[in-house]
Amino acid sequence: MLRATKVRIYPTPEQQSALDRQFGSVRFVWNRALAIMRHRYRVHGQSLSAKHDLKKLLPVAKRNRRYAWLAEADSMALQQSLLNLDRAFKAFFEGRARYPSFKGRRGRQSSYHLTGRTAVVAGAIEIPKVPGAIEARLHREVTGLLKSITLSRSVTGKYYAALLYDDGARAPEPAAVVMPEAIVGVDVGLTHLMIESTGRKTENPRHLRRAAKNLRRKQKSLSRKKKGSKNRAKARLRVAKAHERVANARADFQHKQSRRLVDENQAIVVESLAIKNLLKNHCLARAISDAAWGLLVTKLKYKAKAAGVHLVELNRFAPTSKTCSLCDHKLDDLPLAVRTWTCPKCGSEHDRDLNAAANLKRWGILELRTGGWHVPACGGLRKSTPAVVAASETGNSAAQAA
Ligand SMILES: [Zn+2]
Repeated sequence: MLRATKVRIYPTPEQQSALDRQFGSVRFVWNRALAIMRHRYRVHGQSLSAKHDLKKLLPVAKRNRRYAWLAEADSMALQQSLLNLDRAFKAFFEGRARYPSFKGRRGRQSSYHLTGRTAVVAGAIEIPKVPGAIEARLHREVTGLLKSITLSRSVTGKYYAALLYDDGARAPEPAAVVMPEAIVGVDVGLTHLMIESTGRKTENPRHLRRAAKNLRRKQKSLSRKKKGSKNRAKARLRVAKAHERVANARADFQHKQSRRLVDENQAIVVESLAIKNLLKNHCLARAISDAAWGLLVTKLKYKAKAAGVHLVELNRFAPTSKTCSLCDHKLDDLPLAVRTWTCPKCGSEHDRDLNAAANLKRWGILELRTGGWHVPACGGLRKSTPAVVAASETGNSAAQAA
């Protein structure tokens, strides 16, 4: 099974400068390639591929005296920078990301190193073109085939290594018979991180909300500082630190939540992110909650795989909020501000978010059956959405207590 782990590393000053040179070379290759591609497209209407067309320029540049320093960097890392650029363009053309931008000296830095060798990593890691082994703080030993190492330096100056490795073990097969009560539909809400078809609603914890508020305040303060001033540089660092705290708190919380979902269920149903992105929303709060959601789904995916739990991603375009989960009646319109509604056909009352989660579960069951998995009919789809109002109340108090 492929496994990924990210650890903090503690390079010596000498290793730090080697790493910083490496990051600089990777950044230089990215920026130069991007400039060439942009120019070619604007002036000659030609689309270049970084992987094919620009890769050939790397050895040429290294022979040039002006760019000879490029030879000091890990050449695989430079090539990877070009692959990443192609990927960024692909994401842009598929509407998943913005147009690739130039990378600055001050932002997050990274470089990717292919290793492909058997290794036991405990306490230190070795990187091409960096002298000695870099001290690393690992939570557990990494054994097996080490495929790649991505090194990075955060804006606040901390160094990290993300290791991707194959531990040689087989992933467990998911259960052939999936009990309906062990299937959960999980949706993202405007005010909650997660809404489960069981009625549970999970808010982001208070410390995370507080950190996010603090970040916004620091961002505002930064925008008031004069450009190029010392105070602005200080404010920028404060923003970066606040950012880091928010990201860490969020990751920690999401790890706990995804672990719980995987431990409690045989199958988890979510809406595919590709579909979510199609519904591009101009509501800022929504965009932010969707971004956090994406990170959570990633964690759910690998945890589910490692535990042999089905993760069903619904790919079809279906209106989860405005379809009655009891009788399938579809409303023409349901504005974001409407939190509860009554079905005109069957008369049931719906909490907007819980109804969406119930639909995810319902359609997830169909998807599992289509895939050849056995889902017994008993256990009642209908029972999964009992008195919705009561369920949402208990869900709320549970979230507050947590
Ligand atoms: Zn209905």
